[in-house]
Amino acid sequence: MEHASPLGDTVGMTTTRVRIREDFPAAPVCPHCGKDIHELAARRVESLLGVRFVYYCADCRKVLGVSHRKGFWMG
Ligand SMILES: [Zn+2]
Repeated sequence: MEHASPLGDTVGMTTTRVRIREDFPAAPVCPHCGKDIHELAARRVESLLGVRFVYYCADCRKVLGVSHRKGFWMG
């Protein structure tokens, strides 16, 4: 499935359209250990700012990202 991305619609002299391919066959690669990511570990983190999820490599356990679900007062 392909769909247009909002990337590139920012202010500037040039605009680059970026396609998002959800059917891309290659697995993502962990930037830390360089291995293909077939499993992504997620851990629920509760804080005063709300519930977030930390995503990390199941192989080397280095953190790849954190969900940006905002607190209840931020919508
Ligand atoms: Zn890794």
